[in-house]
Amino acid sequence: MTESPAGANDFIRDVVRSDVEQGTYGGRVQTRFPPEPNGYLHIGHAKAIVQNFGVAQDFGGLCNLRLDDTNPDTEETQYVASIKDDIGWLGYHPAVTVHASDYFETLYLWAEHLIDQGLAYVDDQDGDTLSVQRGGYGKPGIESPYRNRPAAESLELLRRMKAGDFPDGSRCLRAKIDMQAENMWLRDPVMYRIRHAVHHNTGDRWCIYPTYDWAHGQSDAIEGVTHSLCTLEFESHRPLYDWFLSKLPLGHTAPKQREFARLELTHTITSKRRLKKLVDDQLVTSWDDPRMPTLRGLRRRGYPSAAIRDFCTSIGATKTNSRHAIEELESFVRRELNTTAQRRMAVLHPLKLTITTWPTDEQGNPVVEHFELSNNPENSEDGTRRVAFSGELFIERDDFAEVPPSKFFRLSPGREVRLRGAYLVTATDVVKDDDGNVVEVLATHDPASKGGNSPDGRKVKSTMHWVSAAHATTAEVALYERLFTAEVPGDETGEPLDDLNPESRTLLTNCKVEAAMAGTAPGEVVQFERLGYFAADAQQALLFHRTVGLRDEWANIKKRNR
Ligand code: ATP
Ligand code: MG
Repeated sequence: MTESPAGANDFIRDVVRSDVEQGTYGGRVQTRFPPEPNGYLHIGHAKAIVQNFGVAQDFGGLCNLRLDDTNPDTEETQYVASIKDDIGWLGYHPAVTVHASDYFETLYLWAEHLIDQGLAYVDDQDGDTLSVQRGGYGKPGIESPYRNRPAAESLELLRRMKAGDFPDGSRCLRAKIDMQAENMWLRDPVMYRIRHAVHHNTGDRWCIYPTYDWAHGQSDAIEGVTHSLCTLEFESHRPLYDWFLSKLPLGHTAPKQREFARLELTHTITSKRRLKKLVDDQLVTSWDDPRMPTLRGLRRRGYPSAAIRDFCTSIGATKTNSRHAIEELESFVRRELNTTAQRRMAVLHPLKLTITTWPTDEQGNPVVEHFELSNNPENSEDGTRRVAFSGELFIERDDFAEVPPSKFFRLSPGREVRLRGAYLVTATDVVKDDDGNVVEVLATHDPASKGGNSPDGRKVKSTMHWVSAAHATTAEVALYERLFTAEVPGDETGEPLDDLNPESRTLLTNCKVEAAMAGTAPGEVVQFERLGYFAADAQQALLFHRTVGLRDEWANIKKRNR
């Protein structure tokens, strides 16, 4: 058994540990991650992945990927490929990849077995009638007139349903349990429905499809799953899960289902259906739009998979649903990137800074100097890089004020600041365009401050980033705000799209980045000093997505809530 990571001791691991100790499954531990291939995985799925694979890892067991493909109408193979890819990116490797549809034959034989035992029957009524007869809480159900038809008749009808003799929705197979049960799921739940549709895996072989409840626990049992971990909304299904398994000739100990809270984040939606709407209605560019909470989106945005894993591990498995602050996840992202991201300089809103005291060489060209700047002060192994400096630079427009407001310590006329790693400079004058906008700042430099040191210990209050105009490369930078303005999207109106932030993306097309940026690998995340972390787009060269800013807002939120 490998050691449990910190924080990964939860009620689920307690159950598993106790089963291992008692030898319930001969010491075996097996879990599965069972997504329905009807969309892309999102941050909520990451929690389920980390739980399922994490439990298996901690107890030396196995975790399968099971594509829960019992619904032919919404499932597509393109999703299957992306699901596999996303799990690999998160750092997990399924023991095997299987499909619920692999088990359709066994499920069918087991259904006939239940009919034989008098535990299932074919009902000739339609869905609407069934739902009326089902009753409600405190309202008993009504037994179907077909409930007590002879087993032989049900068997014959089920075979004809399977053979395609009946239209969609005209009949179904139901378990015969208890129409008076308090638990609604035990009121003769549907096991098979008729659906003449092409399935992405089984083609047109089947025209009856098992329901979730009939497929899930049975698939777990066939596969050898010991602990079937799912989200809280399935807690009320657990008695049915256990009922089916108790009636089948399994030949081994039945798996057990345990439930943990869904992961929800502020300013975020995690319903696949709603995420699909964002894409279909072109409210975002694609499933991997960097604003999407899909694993593809987060990846493109620059979220390291390690940060997502650590976050999911740290929140652990709980029994109550709660919404986590997105800032908490971001602080894991920042923590990880702080140690891994190389430092670079980039100017997002360039303003020209000309050093009037800068020397020229014998041909009359401005001298070019090079500074060795640290790639990552958090990790000396990352080394240094050479950054060119000359008399014409770009600085951030916000870092200059002709008339500085109070507490503004950056550059203004007569004020001295440090250009990071280079020189101390003092602004002397400005050049304006016809409209009176400052288009250039003139400054002098102190040659004795080479390397950015203060020669006589005199204080400068500000250190600013810069790029040399002659050596800079132009880049595009996409800045992101929350996709939803409300903490709980749709909280007020019930419609999350009402809270969509129309200004969640700003594209800056004339950013100036240091020359080293041209060599950034696709997907690599760097820190632009003072600005945040930025991910190089996987496809387009010199397009960077802001992953997160530098300020850790989570620390403040925690303090406020204390
Ligand atoms: P959606 O409602 O968005 O379609 P789902 O629960 O139907 O989500 P599945 O593909 O069936 O999505 O989910 C696969 C697994 O991931 C299930 O075990 C499910 O419980 C889990 N899961 C899905 N969403 C979350 C979430 N937000 N937090 C934790 N686990 C989740
Ligand atoms: Mg589902």
